[in-house]
Parts: sequence; C-alpha cells; structure tokens
Amino acid sequence: MIELKTPQELEWMRQAGRVVAGVLDRVATIVKPGITTQQLDDAAAAYIRRHGAQPAFLGYRGFPATICVSVNEEVVHGIPGARRIGPGDLVSIDAGAVVSGFYADAAVTVIAGSGSPQTKRLVDITRRALQEGIAQVVVGRRLHDISYAIQRVIEQAGFGIVRDFVGHGIGRALHEDPPIPNFGTPHTGDRLRPGMVFAIEPMVTMGGHEVDILQDGWTAVTKDRSLAAHFEHTVVVTEDAPEILTRVG
Ligand code: MG
Repeated sequence: MIELKTPQELEWMRQAGRVVAGVLDRVATIVKPGITTQQLDDAAAAYIRRHGAQPAFLGYRGFPATICVSVNEEVVHGIPGARRIGPGDLVSIDAGAVVSGFYADAAVTVIAGSGSPQTKRLVDITRRALQEGIAQVVVGRRLHDISYAIQRVIEQAGFGIVRDFVGHGIGRALHEDPPIPNFGTPHTGDRLRPGMVFAIEPMVTMGGHEVDILQDGWTAVTKDRSLAAHFEHTVVVTEDAPEILTRVG
C-alpha cells in the first residue's frame, strides 16, 4: 500500500530534502584524490547537524556511518573509513536526512580528478536514466513507466542494470512501499497519485547486473568488478510537474 503524504508531511520532507541536497553538493565538491572516505563522512555529519536534521543512515540496521561512499566497482552501501580516493576513482555518495520524523534520500556519482571517456559516459548515462525516470512521475502514469524509462536509457547505452537493489517509497520511513525496480513493463503497476513520494535510484554497471556483498556485510560490488554508478532523487507526485525534493539550488 502506497501512503499519500499530507501537506505538512511534505513540508518536513522538503526540509529534509534541502539538507540532503546540500550534503551531496558539499561532499561532491571535496571529493579529490588523496581525501579519505572518512573525511567525506565527517563533512556530511557536520553539515547535517549544522542544518538541524538527523542523519538517516547512521544506525539504520546497524549501518555505522552517516553516508555511503562506494568507490569504483562498489555499487552501493560502501562504509566510509581509511580508504584514500585515488585519481580517476568513481565515487558514489548516498545521503539521507530526517526532519520531524520524515525522510529524504539521494545519491550522486562523481569522478575524482579526470576520468576516462568511458567512465564519464557511465556517469552521464546513469544521471540521464534518473532524469528519464523522473519525467514519468506524472499523475495517471503507472509505477513501471518509471522503471521502463530508466531501463531503456541504460540498455540503449549497453550498460548493466543492477537488479538486487531498487528504488522505493519514502516518507515516515527510509524505505516504504512500493519497490521501484530500474527495469519493468510499461503501463503496469500502481497508478500514480498526488502525494506519493518515491526515491528513484538507477544503479548502473559497465558490465553485468550481478552483485556480491563484501565481508563487512554492507558493501555491494559488481560480481565482475566492473565500474558502477548511482544517482538518486526523492520525488513527489503532484498535480503538475514532478517535485524533486533533493535538487541542489
Ligand atoms: Mg534510496
């Protein structure tokens, strides 16, 4: 069952979304060769507290950090630590914040320094897949119209779509109904109604779709160790255009 948010709840989610956007903007700016993933986490933690929100991931099912930092073949849920970012590394940053008990969740992928043309293309395609998915967040469309729009961009580019992790409803909890796969059959699934809020998040690989979970119990890596990128926004279904809660600016 997909919960519809009230105007007050949406206002809290807007506030959480602004904080998440600010965190990602801040952290993306300081991603450079030589910085550790722990330093990125520290910057995110300071930003969230300074803006009167709480981190959404810290303690979630025991997750030990404020943000997820996933490098190169790591797809999602990388744990910040002593690792130093290297030149050309592909760095995915996922952040969540809570305001008055309501959540927002978003992710970006950046290249530390200059990346190869193929790495840049992976980032561009993943960002575009998210944009195409968001363009389907319109009253009367159906849930898998979002999924299919994302799938089409990725498959046309010849990249792999991660299947073991998907987008999700969001609001009173970080993960709510419905699951939003990054592949699907158009014109199927729930009909979109105003007040629904979705975290849409394509996870794209340069190789196959399969993932492994590392010994730490969290970090998802591509099975073939190909590079992976991840973009995410929290988006509201409105009577008009989709409202992106986690956009910078
Ligand atoms: Mg998410």
